[in-house]
This record gives sequence, C-alpha cells and structure tokens, in this order.
Amino acid sequence: MDIQDKLDLLGSAAQADLACGKCGEGQTRVRDDVGRWIYPAVRPDGKTVKMLKILQTNACEKDCFYCPTRRGRDVPRSTFQPEELAATFDQIHRAHLAEAIFISSGVAGGGTRTMERMLATAELLRGKYDFRGYIHLKLMPGAQDAAIERALLLADRVSVNLEAPSSEHLAKLSSTKRYAEELLAPLQIAKKLIARNPALAGKTMTTQFVVGAADESDRDILARTTQLYRELELARAYFSAFQPIENTPLENHAPTPLVREHRLYQSDFLFRKYGFAFADLIFDPRGNLATEADPKTVWATHHPEFFPIVLNRASKEQLLRIPGIGPLSASRILQSRRVTKFTAIEQLARIGADASRAAPFVLMNGRAPARQLALPF
Ligand code: SF4
Repeated sequence: MDIQDKLDLLGSAAQADLACGKCGEGQTRVRDDVGRWIYPAVRPDGKTVKMLKILQTNACEKDCFYCPTRRGRDVPRSTFQPEELAATFDQIHRAHLAEAIFISSGVAGGGTRTMERMLATAELLRGKYDFRGYIHLKLMPGAQDAAIERALLLADRVSVNLEAPSSEHLAKLSSTKRYAEELLAPLQIAKKLIARNPALAGKTMTTQFVVGAADESDRDILARTTQLYRELELARAYFSAFQPIENTPLENHAPTPLVREHRLYQSDFLFRKYGFAFADLIFDPRGNLATEADPKTVWATHHPEFFPIVLNRASKEQLLRIPGIGPLSASRILQSRRVTKFTAIEQLARIGADASRAAPFVLMNGRAPARQLALPF
C-alpha cells in the first residue's frame, strides 16, 4: 500500500475520535487532495490549528462492539512504520497543510508495544524532524508509567477514551477492555506524573464517551465527567452519539439522536464556563436531560426563587444563571454598567445577549422588560 493509500485508510479510521479538539463540534475539514484528513482543532491555549488526525495502525486485537476496525471485521488493514509516519507528516507540515498532529492507534501486540510505535513516531518528529508544534498522543489501554511519562514529555496533550461511564457499562461495549485497570489507570498515572514533574507543567488530558450504546444515562456520563474534572483535572470530555455500523455486534442498536450529544456538551459548558455544579442539573426519572430545552433554561424554570434578577446590580455569577446570557455578554454587561444603566431590552441585544430569552428572567429599572425586541422601523 503506498503512502497516500495509507493516509486515506488510517486518516478515515481516525475520524471517529473526537478527543483531540474542536473537530468533534461540527467543524469542517480542510478539503484538499493531500490534506483530506486534516481538521481544524483547538489547542489548549485556544488557538485553532490545522491538525492531521491519523492512526499508527488500524490492526486491532480488541473487540469494541461499535467499532469499524474491531478485530475480525473484514476491512483493509495497514500500519505506518514510525519513520514513514514521521516523514509523511514532516512533508505535510513543510507544505503548510497542517501544523499539529493527533496520533491514535488500534491495539496490536498489546498496549505497551503499540505505544512504542507511537512514541517512536513522536520521537522522530521532535528529534530528526525538529517539529516544535502541537502533538496529541492517545494513551493505549494498559499503558505503563514509563510509556505515559515519555508520551507526556513528547506531546502537548494525551488522552484515553473511556467510552463508558463505568466498568458495568463498558462491558456492554467490549469484552476485551478493563475499565479501571486499562482505561482509568493511565489517566490517573498521567495526573500523578504531571503533578510531580515540573517538566510536564501545562500538559493536559482529555477523554471521550460513546453516548447511548451501553444503556447509560446522561446522569451516569456527567457524574463521571465531573469526577474526572475534579479529581484528575481533566481538560475536556468529548461526547460522541452512537451510530450503528454494519457488520458489528451493535449494528441493530438504535442510533443516538444528535440532540442528546448536544445537551451533554451544553451541560459540560455549564460546568466549565458558567460555574454550574453537577447537582444543579435537572434529570428526568430515567436520569436523562430534557431534549426539548437546554439544561440552563431547565434549571432556570425549576428555580423561580432565583428570579427575576436585577440586571443593574447582579453579580457575574447571577448573570451567568440567566438564560440567553453567556460569559462574554455577562462581562459586557458588567463593563457597560460602569457608564450606563440597562433600561431596555434592546441594550441586551446590542451587547450580544439573547435578549428575548433573557427578558422573562430580569428586572430593568425595577420593571420586567418587554418580552420582545422593538421592531427596527
Ligand atoms: S481499541 Fe476498540 S475502539 Fe480502538 S480500534 Fe480497537 S476495537 Fe476500535
């Protein structure tokens, strides 16, 4: 198989992995013959970069029930040798097609041996090819301390896809992966290494969940997510709505509606940007978020005692609880209030808030504002 064919095969196989950045949130790929598998991705510092997402190999000895490259499935298989992948990325980088690389892999010959090949690729990139840009490395199931430390030294970010919120749920997705020992443990080891080695300061970790294939609830997923933020200082969690793939054990399982994935991302934003806690979320009796309204609006309608909020006196924390007001518009309200008072709903619209959504929840000059914006004529 020539290099372009390998790029096509191992780039397309890497698509399903969202744990590398914004590529999981509706971004479009760079459309280019050579750069077909290059995606815009957001680095931890917020800068968007063009990232090559690639598998070192799509050979895999694991049997994840949803996965198109699971063992025994009849698909073409190929492997990049470390030098091949490093040299290929060097060419792509020098052609200014990509400035970052995300390397994942099927598991072939155990997690340790698989990681050896990925680490050799990263070492060639950093050494022989003097690549100083962004590298994200997937930690393989069962990765040991030494390999994790090397990965952290070479990469800017590492990740482990937990896929499920607990070992019981993972058992519905794979018979060959062990949750605590193979998936959680590498994240725990990475957290300890980052904490005690100053050379690893600033290195970050992410994970991904497959949503809806293991009969887990949103509460299960978000409880695990917040625990990871709290205990392991995880940088991000990504959520991927399950879609069945032919000729896999879950081919007849119903697909997960995309709105469920969207509600999980909205909840995750509430944790990370709005000061919400897990206990603030409202779940239905089955442990799921409402699909017909976003989780912040659901919280607001369940907490009438918190509203209306006096817009000209509210703290940033209070502003962030108002539907239609996000972190940017909250900051703008605080800034604008130094020189002017908010007296009309149109002012909210001008600073970028969703004024119609916010109107039922605020007081302006002691009065509830009109619920609709004035017509512009
Ligand atoms: S480990 Fe599981 S998800 Fe990853 S490539 Fe192998 S079968 Fe697919």
